[in-house]
Amino acid sequence: MTEVKDVLHKCKWWFCGAAIVGGSCLYLAHNSKFRSQPQPEPEKMEIFIPPVPQRTAPVEDLADKEKLIGYSMVDAFKYGVINSISDYVDRAPHKTDTIKFAGEFNQVITYGYHQKINGKKYVVLSHIEPDTISVAGASSKLKKMIISFAKYHNDSTKVKTIKAHELWHQASDPDVENGTDINLANKSTRSIFDYNSTTEEFAKICGHDEISSRLNGLLYLREQYLQNGNSRIFKDEYSFYGRAIRSGKIDPNSENAADVENERLFMFKSLIEQWESKHKYNYEDYAIAKLEEHHPMDKGQTSEYDHALDRAYTFIWKTPSGDSKLVNMNYISGEIVPDIRLTDQVEEAALYRQRVEEHNALTKKEPALSMQALKNQGR
Ligand SMILES: [Zn+2]
Repeated sequence: MTEVKDVLHKCKWWFCGAAIVGGSCLYLAHNSKFRSQPQPEPEKMEIFIPPVPQRTAPVEDLADKEKLIGYSMVDAFKYGVINSISDYVDRAPHKTDTIKFAGEFNQVITYGYHQKINGKKYVVLSHIEPDTISVAGASSKLKKMIISFAKYHNDSTKVKTIKAHELWHQASDPDVENGTDINLANKSTRSIFDYNSTTEEFAKICGHDEISSRLNGLLYLREQYLQNGNSRIFKDEYSFYGRAIRSGKIDPNSENAADVENERLFMFKSLIEQWESKHKYNYEDYAIAKLEEHHPMDKGQTSEYDHALDRAYTFIWKTPSGDSKLVNMNYISGEIVPDIRLTDQVEEAALYRQRVEEHNALTKKEPALSMQALKNQGR
């Protein structure tokens, strides 16, 4: 009975970027191996707030807004506080967790996640500190490998791409208390998980949360490419993008409307394909646990699933001339991009959750009966 609740508890930690040393870079999240890793202690972290240039804030509460605390990327853009994803990533606060790396192969390292401390969310980014001293009798070759590994993963473009990813998660599921005390008009304090949805749609929103965060990471890299013209900055899970630029399949430097549509469609479809073929299986435990947070729709309410996706996929898009604008990538060429499919396991969990909600509605039972309890009843 406690199984699902245990998973839910553990998922208060939101892990996203991880890689296995010596292997290819993977995004692993919420699988059992991952959760068994020791968690960084909050006191080990330092808060890093980059210097912010003086600006005139459009509304009150200058201090928090200038630090971009509780202020999503899209809202900050709407109010003219930032002019690009890169601008936000450079200026938004994050915490740093230092991880000592002494060449332990098979070690799973988390590169970025967001964490709730005292009810507020923080983006935490890891800094890899090469430790060549504690490896007894380490060869000079191993020492070099340890140092080059740390250098590769501390690369500022790579770290900021992870930050762009984590900040998107934070914006999609913000701290309502934190947001309301800023009291900003039109502020997107509503989480994408708060929109009316069926249990199946809710489970899909869990996937869209991750895909849209990956898309924001890619859009951050695209901004760098527009500035420096270096297609080699697209690495690991984004390497397909650099290859597409070099082969002429897409051209981020084109202002032509058809080229722009082609590029957007390509990036979206590619990330959906990655999700369908690989990543969604790593997020099954997470989606199953998160389903317990689903709020049943009241009678007469209609699904707002499409609105949740409009919100999740509205990004800051930079043009080759350097201007930025908001684009809703849920609609490309006037059409809704094909939706994702749940795995069998998540589909089953969504159906269970639906039955739990129907059961609770009939018995008016509070608090909600867990899926496991329902299973135990043999229904
Ligand atoms: Zn993520």
